[in-house]
Amino acid sequence: MAADLNVGEEIDAIKRLPGLSMNPGHFCAHQDGRIAFFFNYSKVAFFKIDLAFGVATEVKTEWPYKIRAPQDWCSISSVERSSRTFILALILEDSTNKFFIASFAVSKHKIAVADEHYLGVDYAIDSTVVNCIMQDEYGQIYCIIYYYNFQENRTIFHLLSMNIDENGSVTSKIITNNKAIPKSWFQPFIYADTLLWLPKDDASFAQLCEISLLDERFITLVDTFRDENDDVAAFDCFRISRSVLIEEKAFYYACHDKLKISRLLYFDPKKQTWQHLKIDMKDHIIIGGRVPMQGLRDGKICLHGKCSKEMCSEKYHIYLIDVNALLQAEIQTKKPSSTINYKISIGEMSDTLSSFGVQELTTEVRQAIIDQFEAGLNKKEEYEVTAM
Ligand SMILES: [Zn+2]
Repeated sequence: MAADLNVGEEIDAIKRLPGLSMNPGHFCAHQDGRIAFFFNYSKVAFFKIDLAFGVATEVKTEWPYKIRAPQDWCSISSVERSSRTFILALILEDSTNKFFIASFAVSKHKIAVADEHYLGVDYAIDSTVVNCIMQDEYGQIYCIIYYYNFQENRTIFHLLSMNIDENGSVTSKIITNNKAIPKSWFQPFIYADTLLWLPKDDASFAQLCEISLLDERFITLVDTFRDENDDVAAFDCFRISRSVLIEEKAFYYACHDKLKISRLLYFDPKKQTWQHLKIDMKDHIIIGGRVPMQGLRDGKICLHGKCSKEMCSEKYHIYLIDVNALLQAEIQTKKPSSTINYKISIGEMSDTLSSFGVQELTTEVRQAIIDQFEAGLNKKEEYEVTAM
C-alpha cells in the first residue's frame, strides 16, 4: 500500500499569498504559475504579483484608444505566444453596447495595447450579462457572453472562438449568435467540442445541458452521477465560481459564505460524475460570488478572492491549489472502504454487490468491480464479476 501523504505534503498542496487589498478588479494568472495580474479600476492600471512571494507592483499601462470610454471590463485572461505573454480583456463599450477584445503585450516595465478587436456581437437586452474567456482541453480560446431572459425563461448566448498570434493580433469567429436555450443555465465549460452548462435552479446539478459545437442544433440533457456519501449532497446555498479545465475535468470553486466552508467541485465529462475535494484554507476562506480562477500548466489552480475572516490584515488572498496532490491524498484516504461505497452508490452495481453481500467480498473481487466500473462497464447487462 502506498504511503499516506503526511500533513506537510497536504499543506503544500495549498499555498496562500496576499492578494491585492485595494479594490482588486479583474484577476488572471500566467500559465507558468510565476506571476498573476490584476486590473485595478481606480488606478486604471495593471498590477503584477509575484506568485513566489506575493509582492504586488503597479505596471505602467497603456489605455485602449479605439474602444471608447466609458468601458465595462468583463474579464481578463493570460495567454502565451512564442514566449511572450499577452493579457486578453473582454470589454463592453458602454455607449454602443459592442463587445471588444483588447490584447495587451506584457513586458518588464510596461503593459502595452497590442490589438483592439471588435467581436461582431452586441449587447441588446437590458439584463445582467455574464461573460468569460475560457479554454478547452487543447488550449483553444473561446469567449462566451450570456444572459437569462426571465420573461421567456431562457438563456441566450453568443459563443466565439478566438486566436491570438505572436504579435498579439486577435482574430475571432462567431460560432453561435443569440442562441436561446430553455430555462436558466450558467457557468459553462467546453470539452470535446461540446459546450456544457450547469442548471441554475438545481443545486444538485443532476442534469447538464450539452450543445455540440460542430452542430449546434443538438441540444441534449445529460444525467450526471454523484457520490451519495458526499457530505455536501446538494450545493444549495453554495456560490459556484466559473470553471477551469484541469486534467480533462471541469473544476469549480464552491463556497458557503455563512458556514465559511469551501470545496473544489469537479465534473468528469467522460464518466459524467460529480465529486468534490475539500480544500483546507484554515480560517481564510475565500467567499463571495465572483472568484476568478485560472488553470496553470502544471495542473494547479490559481484563484483570488475576498477573505472570510473579518480581522484579516490582507483582506484578499491568492490561493495556488495543487489539484493532483489533493486528488492523490483523496485516493489514499478513501481506500478501500469509501471507494467501494462510492462505486456502489453511483453505478448500477448495487444489486450485483448486495447479491454478493458487500461484507463478504474479498479485496480481489472489490478491485475487479472497481476496475470494471472504471473501464466504463457499469451497466448491468455488461457487468460481470467472477466471484470467488
Ligand atoms: Zn485572510
